[in-house]
Amino acid sequence: KTLEMIESEKLNALTLLAAGVAHELGNPLNSLQIHTELLQRELVGRKTRRAVVESLTAIRSELHRLDVIVNQFLRAIRPASPKLEWIVLNEVVRDAVSFLTPQMDNRDVVVEMELAKNMPLVRADRDQLRQAFFNVMKNSLEATDRGGMLGVRTELSDAHFLVSFQDNGSGMSVAEMGRAFEPYFTTKQSGTGLGLLVVRRIVREHGGEIQLESREGKGTTVRILLPRSERRVRLLPMRSEQEDEGTK
Ligand code: ADP
Ligand code: MG
Repeated sequence: KTLEMIESEKLNALTLLAAGVAHELGNPLNSLQIHTELLQRELVGRKTRRAVVESLTAIRSELHRLDVIVNQFLRAIRPASPKLEWIVLNEVVRDAVSFLTPQMDNRDVVVEMELAKNMPLVRADRDQLRQAFFNVMKNSLEATDRGGMLGVRTELSDAHFLVSFQDNGSGMSVAEMGRAFEPYFTTKQSGTGLGLLVVRRIVREHGGEIQLESREGKGTTVRILLPRSERRVRLLPMRSEQEDEGTK
């Protein structure tokens, strides 16, 4: 099952690669459009040869066409919107942890879970959230030496469900923190630099936000906040599994 998760991270990587290419094409295209337009105006003003103006017009229309293609491509590869279900958040957290347990054990990293009791159900995409939690914890594992610690907590506040991951690993410099969500930014030999980007995309699609706090040499805390959807929860019959939710 761990392999499955890694595979789905790769799939995301491929989509993001394509998105990256399209995005990169967009900027030069824009710039070409602006510059040819300026050139065209100049030539018209000085009443230079018509043929030149005509070919510039053609160039501009072709550039516009390319721009349309890029935009259509970006729209086509936009990730599917989340498949929303009423889920038990703590269950999804535990699932994600269990995917990583063998690797944690191998490296002597201890996971401490502190899961809030009596949490209302969350309207969310189970697979996407599990992927997000997995990506965050994988980073913690990779940043942590033998005998390290990873704290996983869920909490309920007035407006949010909070899931936080705290490690005592290598931490990030201010510069690294600033770039952590950048596509392809990685400080690892075989990193993809896409993990956190995927996490942020998933969290945002759920109307939530992600916060990083890190100190070099001390460790990192990642907080994922998901909006409460209490009003809709009240319309649902109570589910018995909820009563069982608690620490570990
Ligand atoms: P990857 O893990 O492939 O490098 P990510 O997008 O998951 O890509 O992370 C980007 C970078 O952010 C990492 O290379 C690392 O430098 C930094 N980072 C992320 N999480 C942590 C963490 N828990 N501790 C230290 N550094 C981290
Ligand atoms: Mg990663």
